[in-house]
Amino acid sequence: MQEFDVIVIGSGPGGYVSAIRSAQLGFKVAIVEKYSVMGGTCLNVGCIPSKALLDSSEHYHNAVHSFQEHGIEIPKPKVNLDQMIKRKAGVVSNLNAGIAYLMKKNKITTFHGLGSFDSAKTVKVTKEDGSSEVISGKNIIIATGSKPTALPFIPVDKDRIITSTEALKMKEIPKHLIVIGAGVIGAELGSVYARLGSKVSFVEFADSMIPTMDKTMGKELQKSIAKLGADFYLSHKVTSAAVKGKEVTVKAQDASGKDVEIKGDYCLVCIGRRPYTDGLNLAAAGLTADERGRIAVDEHTLQTSIPGIYAIGDVVRGAMLAHKAEEEGTFVAEVIAGQKPHINYNLIPGVVYTWPEVASVGKTEQELKAAGIAYKEGSFPFKALGRAIASGDVDGLAKVLADANTDEILGVHIIGARAADMIAEAVVAMEYRASAEDVARMSHAHPTYTEAMKEACLAATAKRAIHA
Ligand code: FAD
Ligand code: NAD
Repeated sequence: MQEFDVIVIGSGPGGYVSAIRSAQLGFKVAIVEKYSVMGGTCLNVGCIPSKALLDSSEHYHNAVHSFQEHGIEIPKPKVNLDQMIKRKAGVVSNLNAGIAYLMKKNKITTFHGLGSFDSAKTVKVTKEDGSSEVISGKNIIIATGSKPTALPFIPVDKDRIITSTEALKMKEIPKHLIVIGAGVIGAELGSVYARLGSKVSFVEFADSMIPTMDKTMGKELQKSIAKLGADFYLSHKVTSAAVKGKEVTVKAQDASGKDVEIKGDYCLVCIGRRPYTDGLNLAAAGLTADERGRIAVDEHTLQTSIPGIYAIGDVVRGAMLAHKAEEEGTFVAEVIAGQKPHINYNLIPGVVYTWPEVASVGKTEQELKAAGIAYKEGSFPFKALGRAIASGDVDGLAKVLADANTDEILGVHIIGARAADMIAEAVVAMEYRASAEDVARMSHAHPTYTEAMKEACLAATAKRAIHA
Protein backbone atom coordinates (compact mmCIF):
# COMPACT_ATOMS: atom_id res chain seq x y z
CA MET A 1 0.00 0.00 0.00
CA GLN A 2 1.33 3.44 -0.93
CA GLU A 3 1.72 5.68 2.13
CA PHE A 4 1.51 9.46 2.22
CA ASP A 5 1.81 12.22 4.82
CA VAL A 6 -1.18 14.01 3.27
CA ILE A 7 -3.97 12.74 1.00
CA VAL A 8 -6.20 15.41 -0.52
CA ILE A 9 -9.58 14.30 -1.88
CA GLY A 10 -10.76 16.70 -4.61
CA SER A 11 -8.69 18.89 -6.93
CA GLY A 12 -10.69 22.16 -6.90
CA PRO A 13 -9.13 25.43 -5.71
CA GLY A 14 -9.26 24.16 -2.11
CA GLY A 15 -7.75 20.76 -2.86
CA TYR A 16 -5.01 21.54 -5.35
CA VAL A 17 -3.80 24.58 -3.37
CA SER A 18 -3.63 22.55 -0.15
CA ALA A 19 -1.71 19.82 -2.03
CA ILE A 20 0.84 22.35 -3.31
CA ARG A 21 1.26 24.06 0.08
CA SER A 22 1.63 20.66 1.78
CA ALA A 23 4.34 19.70 -0.73
CA GLN A 24 6.08 23.06 -0.21
CA LEU A 25 6.17 22.25 3.52
CA GLY A 26 8.02 18.99 2.81
CA PHE A 27 5.18 16.46 3.01
CA LYS A 28 4.73 13.46 0.72
CA VAL A 29 1.38 14.27 -0.90
CA ALA A 30 -1.29 12.48 -2.96
CA ILE A 31 -4.33 14.10 -4.60
CA VAL A 32 -7.40 12.09 -5.62
CA GLU A 33 -9.76 13.47 -8.29
CA LYS A 34 -12.74 11.54 -9.62
CA TYR A 35 -12.75 13.28 -13.00
CA SER A 36 -10.04 12.92 -15.64
CA VAL A 37 -9.17 16.62 -15.36
CA MET A 38 -8.00 18.67 -12.40
CA GLY A 39 -9.36 22.01 -11.17
CA GLY A 40 -12.79 21.14 -9.77
CA THR A 41 -15.96 23.17 -10.20
CA CYS A 42 -14.10 26.48 -10.38
CA LEU A 43 -11.96 25.64 -13.37
CA ASN A 44 -14.19 23.21 -15.26
CA VAL A 45 -17.77 24.41 -14.77
CA GLY A 46 -17.54 27.52 -12.59
CA CYS A 47 -15.39 30.63 -12.22
CA ILE A 48 -13.21 30.32 -15.31
CA PRO A 49 -15.64 29.18 -18.05
CA SER A 50 -18.29 31.63 -16.82
CA LYS A 51 -15.78 34.50 -16.97
CA ALA A 52 -14.67 33.42 -20.46
CA LEU A 53 -18.29 33.66 -21.66
CA LEU A 54 -18.88 36.89 -19.74
CA ASP A 55 -15.87 38.45 -21.46
CA SER A 56 -16.84 37.17 -24.94
CA SER A 57 -20.46 38.31 -24.60
CA GLU A 58 -19.31 41.70 -23.29
CA HIS A 59 -17.09 42.17 -26.36
CA TYR A 60 -20.09 41.38 -28.57
CA HIS A 61 -22.35 43.71 -26.62
CA ASN A 62 -19.85 46.56 -26.92
CA ALA A 63 -19.37 45.92 -30.62
CA VAL A 64 -23.13 46.23 -31.13
CA HIS A 65 -23.92 49.00 -28.68
CA SER A 66 -20.92 51.22 -28.02
CA PHE A 67 -18.36 50.92 -30.83
CA GLN A 68 -20.24 53.42 -32.97
CA GLU A 69 -20.28 56.02 -30.22
CA HIS A 70 -16.52 55.56 -29.84
CA GLY A 71 -16.16 56.24 -33.58
CA ILE A 72 -15.53 52.65 -34.62
CA GLU A 73 -17.57 51.51 -37.58
CA ILE A 74 -17.81 47.82 -38.37
CA PRO A 75 -20.35 45.75 -40.28
CA LYS A 76 -23.15 44.46 -38.02
CA PRO A 77 -21.45 41.88 -35.76
CA LYS A 78 -22.84 38.32 -35.53
CA VAL A 79 -22.51 35.81 -32.72
CA ASN A 80 -20.79 32.51 -33.50
CA LEU A 81 -21.84 30.63 -30.37
CA ASP A 82 -19.90 27.47 -31.33
CA GLN A 83 -16.67 29.49 -31.53
CA MET A 84 -17.46 31.25 -28.24
CA ILE A 85 -17.96 27.89 -26.50
CA LYS A 86 -14.88 26.44 -28.25
CA ARG A 87 -12.74 29.33 -27.04
CA LYS A 88 -14.09 28.84 -23.50
CA ALA A 89 -13.18 25.13 -23.67
CA GLY A 90 -9.67 26.07 -24.81
CA VAL A 91 -9.24 28.43 -21.85
CA VAL A 92 -10.31 25.63 -19.49
CA SER A 93 -8.06 22.96 -21.00
CA ASN A 94 -5.12 25.36 -20.98
CA LEU A 95 -5.55 25.79 -17.22
CA ASN A 96 -6.24 22.04 -16.71
CA ALA A 97 -2.77 21.43 -18.14
CA GLY A 98 -1.41 24.17 -15.87
CA ILE A 99 -2.65 22.40 -12.73
CA ALA A 100 -1.35 19.01 -13.94
CA TYR A 101 2.04 20.71 -14.46
CA LEU A 102 1.96 22.19 -10.94
CA MET A 103 1.21 18.75 -9.45
CA LYS A 104 4.22 17.30 -11.28
CA LYS A 105 6.48 20.23 -10.40
CA ASN A 106 5.64 19.79 -6.70
CA LYS A 107 6.06 15.99 -6.89
CA ILE A 108 2.45 15.37 -5.89
CA THR A 109 1.14 11.89 -6.80
CA THR A 110 -2.13 12.20 -8.73
CA PHE A 111 -4.84 9.53 -8.63
CA HIS A 112 -7.83 9.78 -10.98
CA GLY A 113 -10.79 7.91 -9.48
CA LEU A 114 -13.52 8.20 -6.86
CA GLY A 115 -12.01 8.56 -3.38
CA SER A 116 -13.91 6.92 -0.56
CA PHE A 117 -12.91 6.32 3.02
CA ASP A 118 -11.85 2.77 3.79
CA SER A 119 -10.97 3.74 7.37
CA ALA A 120 -9.96 6.96 9.13
CA LYS A 121 -6.45 6.57 7.72
CA THR A 122 -7.04 4.93 4.34
CA VAL A 123 -8.73 5.99 1.10
CA LYS A 124 -9.92 3.64 -1.61
CA VAL A 125 -9.54 5.02 -5.13
CA THR A 126 -11.93 3.44 -7.65
CA LYS A 127 -11.03 4.17 -11.26
CA GLU A 128 -13.48 4.50 -14.14
CA ASP A 129 -12.66 0.95 -15.33
CA GLY A 130 -13.77 -0.39 -11.93
CA SER A 131 -10.29 -1.27 -10.66
CA SER A 132 -9.33 0.10 -7.27
CA GLU A 133 -6.43 0.61 -4.91
CA VAL A 134 -6.19 1.63 -1.28
CA ILE A 135 -3.70 4.29 -0.16
CA SER A 136 -2.94 5.41 3.36
CA GLY A 137 -2.42 8.89 4.74
CA LYS A 138 -1.31 10.24 8.13
CA ASN A 139 -3.54 13.22 7.31
CA ILE A 140 -6.52 13.38 4.97
CA ILE A 141 -8.02 16.62 3.63
CA ILE A 142 -11.59 16.50 2.30
CA ALA A 143 -12.04 19.08 -0.47
CA THR A 144 -14.95 17.56 -2.38
CA GLY A 145 -16.76 20.84 -3.07
CA SER A 146 -20.41 21.32 -3.95
CA LYS A 147 -23.14 20.63 -6.55
CA PRO A 148 -26.18 22.70 -7.61
CA THR A 149 -29.19 22.60 -5.25
CA ALA A 150 -32.37 21.18 -6.77
CA LEU A 151 -36.00 21.94 -5.99
CA PRO A 152 -38.02 18.73 -5.53
CA PHE A 153 -40.83 20.00 -7.77
CA ILE A 154 -38.59 21.16 -10.63
CA PRO A 155 -37.33 18.36 -12.87
CA VAL A 156 -33.87 19.39 -14.11
CA ASP A 157 -33.64 17.45 -17.40
CA LYS A 158 -30.34 19.17 -18.36
CA ASP A 159 -31.85 19.86 -21.78
CA ARG A 160 -34.53 22.55 -21.37
CA ILE A 161 -34.42 22.90 -17.58
CA ILE A 162 -30.73 23.32 -16.90
CA THR A 163 -28.10 24.14 -14.28
CA SER A 164 -25.07 26.41 -14.67
CA THR A 165 -23.08 23.46 -16.06
CA GLU A 166 -25.34 23.15 -19.13
CA ALA A 167 -25.64 26.95 -19.45
CA LEU A 168 -21.88 27.02 -20.07
CA LYS A 169 -22.13 24.80 -23.16
CA MET A 170 -25.33 25.79 -24.93
CA LYS A 171 -25.85 24.73 -28.56
CA GLU A 172 -28.09 27.72 -29.32
CA ILE A 173 -28.84 31.13 -27.87
CA PRO A 174 -32.13 30.88 -25.96
CA LYS A 175 -34.96 33.00 -27.28
CA HIS A 176 -36.35 33.39 -23.78
CA LEU A 177 -34.28 32.20 -20.82
CA ILE A 178 -36.15 31.99 -17.53
CA VAL A 179 -33.69 32.21 -14.63
CA ILE A 180 -34.87 30.86 -11.29
CA GLY A 181 -32.76 32.60 -8.63
CA ALA A 182 -31.29 36.07 -9.21
CA GLY A 183 -28.19 35.39 -7.10
CA VAL A 184 -24.61 35.34 -8.34
CA ILE A 185 -24.96 32.63 -10.99
CA GLY A 186 -28.28 34.00 -12.21
CA ALA A 187 -26.88 37.53 -12.55
CA GLU A 188 -23.73 36.36 -14.35
CA LEU A 189 -25.13 33.75 -16.73
CA GLY A 190 -28.35 35.73 -17.22
CA SER A 191 -26.13 38.65 -18.34
CA VAL A 192 -24.25 36.44 -20.80
CA TYR A 193 -27.41 35.43 -22.68
CA ALA A 194 -29.14 38.82 -22.34
CA ARG A 195 -26.08 40.37 -24.07
CA LEU A 196 -26.20 37.73 -26.79
CA GLY A 197 -29.82 38.63 -27.54
CA SER A 198 -31.96 36.34 -25.33
CA LYS A 199 -34.95 37.71 -23.53
CA VAL A 200 -34.15 36.94 -19.87
CA SER A 201 -36.71 36.75 -17.06
CA PHE A 202 -35.51 36.47 -13.47
CA VAL A 203 -37.78 34.78 -10.93
CA GLU A 204 -36.43 35.50 -7.46
CA PHE A 205 -37.76 34.63 -4.03
CA ALA A 206 -36.18 37.67 -2.30
CA ASP A 207 -37.13 41.29 -2.97
CA SER A 208 -33.90 42.13 -4.81
CA MET A 209 -31.19 40.66 -7.00
CA ILE A 210 -28.05 39.34 -5.22
CA PRO A 211 -29.99 39.64 -1.93
CA THR A 212 -27.14 38.65 0.39
CA MET A 213 -25.08 41.67 -0.66
CA ASP A 214 -25.64 45.27 0.46
CA LYS A 215 -29.14 46.25 -0.76
CA THR A 216 -27.84 49.23 -2.75
CA MET A 217 -25.84 46.81 -4.93
CA GLY A 218 -28.88 44.71 -5.89
CA LYS A 219 -30.91 47.82 -6.69
CA GLU A 220 -28.21 49.32 -8.91
CA LEU A 221 -27.44 45.99 -10.59
CA GLN A 222 -31.10 45.52 -11.45
CA LYS A 223 -31.14 48.94 -13.15
CA SER A 224 -28.13 47.97 -15.29
CA ILE A 225 -29.42 44.51 -16.20
CA ALA A 226 -32.86 45.94 -17.00
CA LYS A 227 -31.11 47.97 -19.74
CA LEU A 228 -30.36 44.62 -21.43
CA GLY A 229 -34.12 44.09 -21.67
CA ALA A 230 -34.48 41.68 -18.75
CA ASP A 231 -37.72 41.21 -16.78
CA PHE A 232 -37.81 40.75 -13.02
CA TYR A 233 -40.28 38.74 -10.95
CA LEU A 234 -38.93 39.62 -7.49
CA SER A 235 -40.60 38.41 -4.27
CA HIS A 236 -41.93 35.49 -6.33
CA LYS A 237 -42.05 31.91 -5.14
CA VAL A 238 -41.62 29.33 -7.90
CA THR A 239 -44.26 26.62 -7.74
CA SER A 240 -43.56 24.51 -10.83
CA ALA A 241 -41.67 24.19 -14.09
CA ALA A 242 -42.63 21.85 -16.90
CA VAL A 243 -41.34 21.08 -20.38
CA LYS A 244 -43.53 20.42 -23.40
CA GLY A 245 -41.61 19.96 -26.61
CA LYS A 246 -39.31 22.97 -26.84
CA GLU A 247 -41.34 25.09 -24.42
CA VAL A 248 -40.76 25.51 -20.68
CA THR A 249 -43.56 26.86 -18.51
CA VAL A 250 -42.62 28.24 -15.11
CA LYS A 251 -45.33 29.04 -12.60
CA ALA A 252 -44.76 31.28 -9.58
CA GLN A 253 -46.70 33.14 -6.94
CA ASP A 254 -46.14 36.77 -6.00
CA ALA A 255 -46.13 38.05 -2.40
CA SER A 256 -49.92 38.57 -2.47
CA GLY A 257 -50.50 34.97 -3.57
CA LYS A 258 -51.28 35.87 -7.21
CA ASP A 259 -50.18 33.24 -9.75
CA VAL A 260 -48.00 34.12 -12.73
CA GLU A 261 -47.04 31.93 -15.66
CA ILE A 262 -43.92 32.53 -17.76
CA LYS A 263 -43.18 30.67 -20.98
CA GLY A 264 -39.70 30.36 -22.44
CA ASP A 265 -37.51 27.90 -24.32
CA TYR A 266 -34.94 27.31 -21.54
CA CYS A 267 -35.03 27.56 -17.75
CA LEU A 268 -31.83 27.95 -15.71
CA VAL A 269 -32.16 26.83 -12.10
CA CYS A 270 -29.57 28.54 -9.86
CA ILE A 271 -30.90 28.71 -6.33
CA GLY A 272 -27.67 27.88 -4.52
CA ARG A 273 -25.29 24.96 -4.14
CA ARG A 274 -25.07 22.11 -1.63
CA PRO A 275 -21.94 20.58 -0.10
CA TYR A 276 -20.99 17.37 -1.91
CA THR A 277 -19.98 14.20 -0.08
CA ASP A 278 -21.75 11.55 -2.19
CA GLY A 279 -19.70 8.37 -2.56
CA LEU A 280 -17.14 9.49 0.04
CA ASN A 281 -18.26 6.85 2.56
CA LEU A 282 -17.83 9.22 5.51
CA ALA A 283 -19.15 6.53 7.86
CA ALA A 284 -16.02 4.38 7.36
CA ALA A 285 -13.98 7.24 8.84
CA GLY A 286 -16.47 7.78 11.69
CA LEU A 287 -17.73 11.04 10.16
CA THR A 288 -21.21 12.35 9.38
CA ALA A 289 -22.42 15.39 7.46
CA ASP A 290 -24.72 17.90 9.24
CA GLU A 291 -28.36 18.55 8.26
CA ARG A 292 -27.22 20.83 5.41
CA GLY A 293 -24.72 18.25 4.11
CA ARG A 294 -21.67 20.12 5.43
CA ILE A 295 -18.77 18.55 7.27
CA ALA A 296 -18.32 20.16 10.68
CA VAL A 297 -14.83 21.48 11.44
CA ASP A 298 -13.02 23.02 14.37
CA GLU A 299 -12.76 26.80 13.76
CA HIS A 300 -9.12 26.96 14.89
CA THR A 301 -7.74 24.04 12.85
CA LEU A 302 -10.35 23.00 10.24
CA GLN A 303 -9.98 19.50 11.69
CA THR A 304 -13.11 17.34 11.71
CA SER A 305 -14.27 15.36 14.75
CA ILE A 306 -11.76 12.66 13.72
CA PRO A 307 -8.09 13.52 14.43
CA GLY A 308 -6.01 13.79 11.25
CA ILE A 309 -9.02 14.38 8.97
CA TYR A 310 -9.59 17.96 7.82
CA ALA A 311 -12.18 19.58 5.53
CA ILE A 312 -12.04 22.79 3.47
CA GLY A 313 -13.83 24.82 0.80
CA ASP A 314 -17.45 24.47 -0.30
CA VAL A 315 -17.94 21.27 1.71
CA VAL A 316 -17.60 23.21 5.00
CA ARG A 317 -19.44 26.26 6.40
CA GLY A 318 -18.89 29.74 5.00
CA ALA A 319 -18.94 31.45 1.61
CA MET A 320 -18.82 29.12 -1.38
CA LEU A 321 -16.01 30.98 -3.11
CA ALA A 322 -12.85 29.79 -4.81
CA HIS A 323 -10.56 32.22 -2.98
CA LYS A 324 -12.06 31.20 0.39
CA ALA A 325 -11.36 27.54 -0.50
CA GLU A 326 -7.79 28.47 -1.49
CA GLU A 327 -7.17 30.30 1.81
CA GLU A 328 -8.41 27.25 3.70
CA GLY A 329 -6.23 24.99 1.53
CA THR A 330 -3.12 26.88 2.55
CA PHE A 331 -4.32 27.20 6.15
CA VAL A 332 -4.86 23.48 6.68
CA ALA A 333 -1.47 22.50 5.23
CA GLU A 334 0.18 24.93 7.63
CA VAL A 335 -1.84 23.60 10.58
CA ILE A 336 -0.66 20.07 9.72
CA ALA A 337 2.92 21.42 9.66
CA GLY A 338 2.43 22.75 13.21
CA GLN A 339 2.17 26.40 12.20
CA LYS A 340 -0.44 28.87 13.47
CA PRO A 341 -2.01 30.39 10.33
CA HIS A 342 -4.93 32.82 10.33
CA ILE A 343 -7.86 33.59 8.04
CA ASN A 344 -9.90 36.77 8.44
CA TYR A 345 -13.31 35.53 7.24
CA ASN A 346 -14.77 39.04 7.53
CA LEU A 347 -12.42 40.14 4.78
CA ILE A 348 -13.17 37.53 2.10
CA PRO A 349 -14.36 39.72 -0.78
CA GLY A 350 -17.42 38.80 -2.83
CA VAL A 351 -17.56 39.70 -6.52
CA VAL A 352 -20.25 39.43 -9.20
CA TYR A 353 -18.72 39.59 -12.68
CA THR A 354 -21.59 41.33 -14.43
CA TRP A 355 -21.01 44.65 -16.18
CA PRO A 356 -20.92 46.78 -14.21
CA GLU A 357 -19.15 44.48 -11.77
CA VAL A 358 -20.21 44.29 -8.14
CA ALA A 359 -17.63 43.85 -5.39
CA SER A 360 -17.99 43.89 -1.68
CA VAL A 361 -16.05 43.31 1.52
CA GLY A 362 -16.89 43.58 5.21
CA LYS A 363 -20.26 44.47 6.66
CA THR A 364 -23.33 45.54 4.67
CA GLU A 365 -25.43 48.48 5.81
CA GLN A 366 -28.18 46.02 6.76
CA GLU A 367 -25.78 43.99 8.93
CA LEU A 368 -24.52 47.12 10.73
CA LYS A 369 -28.11 48.23 11.42
CA ALA A 370 -29.06 44.76 12.70
CA ALA A 371 -25.99 44.70 14.98
CA GLY A 372 -26.79 48.20 16.31
CA ILE A 373 -23.40 49.58 15.24
CA ALA A 374 -23.34 53.36 14.68
CA TYR A 375 -21.88 54.04 11.23
CA LYS A 376 -21.26 56.78 8.68
CA GLU A 377 -21.89 56.27 4.99
CA GLY A 378 -20.14 57.87 2.05
CA SER A 379 -21.03 57.19 -1.59
CA PHE A 380 -19.60 58.41 -4.85
CA PRO A 381 -21.27 57.87 -8.24
CA PHE A 382 -19.21 56.67 -11.22
CA LYS A 383 -20.95 59.24 -13.41
CA ALA A 384 -18.94 61.95 -11.64
CA LEU A 385 -15.62 60.17 -12.31
CA GLY A 386 -13.40 61.43 -15.13
CA ARG A 387 -12.14 57.94 -16.03
CA ALA A 388 -15.67 56.53 -16.21
CA ILE A 389 -16.86 59.40 -18.43
CA ALA A 390 -13.83 58.94 -20.72
CA SER A 391 -14.59 55.23 -21.19
CA GLY A 392 -18.37 55.56 -21.24
CA ASP A 393 -18.85 53.22 -18.26
CA VAL A 394 -20.79 55.57 -16.00
CA ASP A 395 -23.17 53.16 -14.22
CA GLY A 396 -22.56 52.51 -10.54
CA LEU A 397 -21.17 53.87 -7.31
CA ALA A 398 -18.71 53.20 -4.52
CA LYS A 399 -20.12 53.05 -1.00
CA VAL A 400 -17.98 53.14 2.15
CA LEU A 401 -19.33 52.39 5.62
CA ALA A 402 -17.19 53.57 8.54
CA ASP A 403 -17.57 53.41 12.30
CA ALA A 404 -19.32 56.60 13.47
CA ASN A 405 -16.96 57.00 16.42
CA THR A 406 -13.57 55.68 15.28
CA ASP A 407 -13.89 56.21 11.48
CA GLU A 408 -12.58 52.62 10.93
CA ILE A 409 -13.80 51.26 7.57
CA LEU A 410 -16.33 48.48 8.28
CA GLY A 411 -17.60 47.73 4.79
CA VAL A 412 -16.97 48.68 1.17
CA HIS A 413 -19.48 48.00 -1.61
CA ILE A 414 -18.74 48.96 -5.19
CA ILE A 415 -20.78 48.54 -8.33
CA GLY A 416 -19.06 49.84 -11.42
CA ALA A 417 -16.47 49.16 -14.09
CA ARG A 418 -13.53 47.11 -12.72
CA ALA A 419 -15.01 46.91 -9.22
CA ALA A 420 -13.68 43.32 -9.04
CA ASP A 421 -10.12 44.58 -9.10
CA MET A 422 -10.79 47.73 -7.08
CA ILE A 423 -12.03 45.81 -4.05
CA ALA A 424 -8.47 44.65 -3.30
CA GLU A 425 -7.67 48.17 -2.04
CA ALA A 426 -10.53 47.93 0.44
CA VAL A 427 -9.36 44.49 1.63
CA VAL A 428 -5.83 45.79 2.28
CA ALA A 429 -7.14 48.92 4.01
CA MET A 430 -9.49 46.92 6.24
CA GLU A 431 -6.88 44.25 7.06
CA TYR A 432 -4.73 47.08 8.46
CA ARG A 433 -7.81 48.60 10.11
CA ALA A 434 -7.57 51.85 8.17
CA SER A 435 -9.98 54.70 8.81
CA ALA A 436 -11.93 56.32 5.97
CA GLU A 437 -9.74 59.39 6.54
CA ASP A 438 -6.55 57.28 6.04
CA VAL A 439 -7.71 56.17 2.57
CA ALA A 440 -9.10 59.62 1.74
CA ARG A 441 -5.63 61.08 2.33
CA MET A 442 -3.81 58.57 0.10
CA SER A 443 -2.96 59.63 -3.45
CA HIS A 444 -4.98 57.73 -6.05
CA ALA A 445 -3.76 57.98 -9.64
CA HIS A 446 -5.82 60.24 -11.89
CA PRO A 447 -7.79 59.38 -13.93
CA THR A 448 -8.63 55.92 -12.53
CA TYR A 449 -11.74 54.18 -11.28
CA THR A 450 -10.02 53.86 -7.88
CA GLU A 451 -10.65 57.56 -7.33
CA ALA A 452 -14.26 56.52 -6.61
CA MET A 453 -12.96 54.74 -3.48
CA LYS A 454 -11.03 57.83 -2.35
CA GLU A 455 -14.03 60.08 -3.00
CA ALA A 456 -16.39 57.71 -1.15
CA CYS A 457 -13.96 57.78 1.81
CA LEU A 458 -13.94 61.58 1.64
CA ALA A 459 -17.74 61.48 1.60
CA ALA A 460 -17.76 59.18 4.64
CA THR A 461 -15.37 61.59 6.40
CA ALA A 462 -17.60 64.61 6.99
CA LYS A 463 -19.19 64.57 3.51
CA ARG A 464 -16.24 66.23 1.78
CA ALA A 465 -16.10 64.47 -1.61
CA ILE A 466 -14.49 66.85 -4.10
CA HIS A 467 -16.22 65.95 -7.35
CA ALA A 468 -19.82 65.39 -6.23
P1 FAD B 1 -14.71 22.17 -6.05
O1 FAD B 1 -14.12 23.20 -6.93
O2 FAD B 1 -16.15 21.86 -6.21
O3 FAD B 1 -13.86 20.85 -6.28
C1 FAD B 1 -14.17 19.64 -5.70
C2 FAD B 1 -13.53 18.55 -6.50
O4 FAD B 1 -13.63 17.34 -5.77
C3 FAD B 1 -14.18 18.29 -7.85
O5 FAD B 1 -13.21 18.27 -8.86
C4 FAD B 1 -14.83 16.92 -7.68
O6 FAD B 1 -14.86 16.17 -8.88
C5 FAD B 1 -13.92 16.28 -6.66
N1 FAD B 1 -14.54 15.22 -5.89
C6 FAD B 1 -15.73 15.24 -5.24
N2 FAD B 1 -15.94 14.09 -4.59
C7 FAD B 1 -14.86 13.31 -4.85
C8 FAD B 1 -14.49 12.01 -4.45
N3 FAD B 1 -15.25 11.28 -3.64
N4 FAD B 1 -13.31 11.52 -4.91
C9 FAD B 1 -12.52 12.25 -5.72
N5 FAD B 1 -12.82 13.50 -6.11
C10 FAD B 1 -13.97 14.01 -5.67
N6 FAD B 1 -16.22 31.32 -6.98
C11 FAD B 1 -15.45 32.43 -7.02
O7 FAD B 1 -14.74 32.70 -6.04
N7 FAD B 1 -15.42 33.24 -8.11
C12 FAD B 1 -16.19 33.01 -9.19
O8 FAD B 1 -16.15 33.77 -10.16
C13 FAD B 1 -17.02 31.85 -9.19
N8 FAD B 1 -17.80 31.58 -10.25
C14 FAD B 1 -18.57 30.44 -10.24
C15 FAD B 1 -19.39 30.20 -11.34
C16 FAD B 1 -20.20 29.07 -11.35
C17 FAD B 1 -21.08 28.81 -12.56
C18 FAD B 1 -20.16 28.17 -10.26
C19 FAD B 1 -20.99 26.92 -10.29
C20 FAD B 1 -19.36 28.41 -9.16
C21 FAD B 1 -18.56 29.57 -9.13
N9 FAD B 1 -17.77 29.89 -8.04
C22 FAD B 1 -17.00 31.02 -8.04
C23 FAD B 1 -17.72 29.02 -6.84
C24 FAD B 1 -16.44 28.15 -6.90
O9 FAD B 1 -16.45 27.39 -8.08
C25 FAD B 1 -16.38 27.23 -5.68
O10 FAD B 1 -16.51 28.01 -4.51
C26 FAD B 1 -15.07 26.48 -5.64
O11 FAD B 1 -14.90 25.71 -6.80
C27 FAD B 1 -15.00 25.58 -4.40
O12 FAD B 1 -13.78 24.91 -4.39
P2 FAD B 1 -13.59 23.51 -3.68
O13 FAD B 1 -12.15 23.17 -3.86
O14 FAD B 1 -14.15 23.54 -2.33
O15 FAD B 1 -14.51 22.49 -4.50
P1 NAD C 1 -26.89 32.22 -4.63
O1 NAD C 1 -27.05 31.85 -3.23
O2 NAD C 1 -25.94 33.31 -4.99
O3 NAD C 1 -28.29 32.69 -5.25
C1 NAD C 1 -29.43 31.90 -5.20
C2 NAD C 1 -30.63 32.81 -5.34
O4 NAD C 1 -31.77 31.99 -5.50
C3 NAD C 1 -30.86 33.67 -4.11
O5 NAD C 1 -31.03 35.00 -4.53
C4 NAD C 1 -32.13 33.10 -3.48
O6 NAD C 1 -32.91 34.07 -2.84
C5 NAD C 1 -32.83 32.52 -4.71
N1 NAD C 1 -33.74 31.41 -4.43
C6 NAD C 1 -33.56 30.37 -3.57
N2 NAD C 1 -34.62 29.53 -3.61
C7 NAD C 1 -35.47 30.05 -4.54
C8 NAD C 1 -36.73 29.65 -5.05
N3 NAD C 1 -37.31 28.54 -4.61
N4 NAD C 1 -37.33 30.43 -5.98
C9 NAD C 1 -36.74 31.56 -6.43
N5 NAD C 1 -35.53 31.98 -5.98
C10 NAD C 1 -34.91 31.24 -5.06
O7 NAD C 1 -26.57 30.86 -5.41
P2 NAD C 1 -26.12 30.60 -6.91
O8 NAD C 1 -26.27 31.81 -7.73
O9 NAD C 1 -26.78 29.33 -7.30
O10 NAD C 1 -24.58 30.32 -6.72
C11 NAD C 1 -24.13 29.22 -5.90
C12 NAD C 1 -22.83 29.52 -5.24
O11 NAD C 1 -21.79 29.65 -6.18
C13 NAD C 1 -22.91 30.79 -4.45
O12 NAD C 1 -22.69 30.50 -3.11
C14 NAD C 1 -21.82 31.66 -4.97
O13 NAD C 1 -21.04 32.16 -3.93
C15 NAD C 1 -20.99 30.76 -5.87
N6 NAD C 1 -20.70 31.53 -7.08
C16 NAD C 1 -19.85 32.58 -6.97
C17 NAD C 1 -19.61 33.37 -8.07
C18 NAD C 1 -18.69 34.54 -7.92
O14 NAD C 1 -17.98 34.61 -6.94
N7 NAD C 1 -18.68 35.46 -8.87
C19 NAD C 1 -20.23 33.11 -9.27
C20 NAD C 1 -21.11 32.04 -9.33
C21 NAD C 1 -21.33 31.25 -8.22
